[in-house]
Amino acid sequence: MLSDTDHDFLEEVRAFYAEALTPELARAGRMTTWTYSEFEYGRRWQKILHGRGWGAPHWPAEHGGTGWTPVQRMIWDVETARASPPAIMRIGRDLCAPAIMAFGTDEQKREFLPRILAGEDWWAQGFSEPGAGSDLASLQMSARRDGDDYVLNGTKIWTTYAQHANRIFCLVRTATGARRQEGITALLVDTDTPGIEVRPLINLAGGHEFNEIFFTDARVPVSRLLGQENEGWAVARHLLKYEHGGGHGGTVELRRKLAWLWDMAALQSDGLGGTMIDDPDFLRRFSELSITTSAVTFATTQAFAALKRGDPPPPSIPLLRLRSRDLMQRITELGLDTVGHYGAVYQPDAYKVVPTAEPIGPEEALLAMPYYLSYRGASIAGGTPEIQRNNLARNLLGL
Ligand SMILES: Cc1cc2nc3c(=O)[nH]c(=O)nc-3n(C[C@H](O)[C@H](O)[C@H](O)COP(=O)(O)OP(=O)(O)OC[C@H]3O[C@@H](n4cnc5c(N)ncnc54)[C@H](O)[C@@H]3O)c2cc1C
Repeated sequence: MLSDTDHDFLEEVRAFYAEALTPELARAGRMTTWTYSEFEYGRRWQKILHGRGWGAPHWPAEHGGTGWTPVQRMIWDVETARASPPAIMRIGRDLCAPAIMAFGTDEQKREFLPRILAGEDWWAQGFSEPGAGSDLASLQMSARRDGDDYVLNGTKIWTTYAQHANRIFCLVRTATGARRQEGITALLVDTDTPGIEVRPLINLAGGHEFNEIFFTDARVPVSRLLGQENEGWAVARHLLKYEHGGGHGGTVELRRKLAWLWDMAALQSDGLGGTMIDDPDFLRRFSELSITTSAVTFATTQAFAALKRGDPPPPSIPLLRLRSRDLMQRITELGLDTVGHYGAVYQPDAYKVVPTAEPIGPEEALLAMPYYLSYRGASIAGGTPEIQRNNLARNLLGL
């Protein structure tokens, strides 16, 4: 049960979405097939949120956060997932900013945080390299000190939306220590620095989400060091704590995808005079996914209740994240099976925010293949399932 104050807040959030989410922005959210919406719409949405004072609800109030209670934040997460606004490229706001708050100098906080909040700066995450992914500590990109600069040489890869970023948060090697985690340094880099070249990597579905970035004698001022030289591993670990999604917003997203699946199945012929929702195999798989989604939702609510009581984060949280990712893959897999041959249609121009092609078949079906492919990748970003299971085995089971 919500208190009267929380109920008023819920109404306020709903009224905001009803007014601010124009049909065009709503379509940008609905047509998001990859990690983020088309960049321009995410940028516009961040500016709208900022104008309302809600640009970064989870930030501390001193830096421009809202100071909401945990219940208000839950309401915000749920209503946001329901309204489905454009998905903002969140690396700056949700990952880099907490690291800057924790490790940055006062000058760095003053320089970077307000610009992230206002949607003026967009950050990419320069962690992975061709030889360093799960085993991040093996990264090789070098930063050699030369006067007041570091000179960067090396390659970053899989850098999401770097083509839109004006800054990149880089992990570089400044020394070779006894442990590989030693000698890593975090640097805040402008992407227009001479010697930096961003090249597109086109993903399986033909989308330009990733990039490879080449650094050749790129000079970065020492004032852009975040934290201490050679102690960037602690900064990276802090940042990665914020990488995983999930929570109440994640469970609403699961239910939205189930609704998409059901609506699509209701339009799709089963070849026997009915639609796919008459198909026993579809119904069996759909029911199983719905029941598991409900179980994850209840368990998430329980975990939230524990946090609200002030208990330590329950060990179930990483398990629920893993299970949610797995569910999303299975929902989108059933989506692809349900649309049959429409899944093979490749029509990115038809699911743009401003489409330049008419969809062949139902519009919902158009999204089946991009969703399917996107959620394969989503389980790798931020730690593969195998790595997360390893962590669970170590941290939860003490193995
Ligand atoms: C959608 C998406 C967005 C991304 N965005 C960014 C970004 O913006 N910036 C960035 O820096 N990186 C980004 N990445 C890269 C991502 O962080 C890496 O892909 C991820 O860390 C895995 O590394 P890898 O691809 O090198 O795979 P590898 O580490 O080579 O793993 C290959 C396989 O081996 C398994 N494996 C590896 N080690 C172990 C082990 N110890 N035990 C058991 N199994 C193991 C893995 O689970 C995986 O199945 C993104 C990736 C994706 C998919």
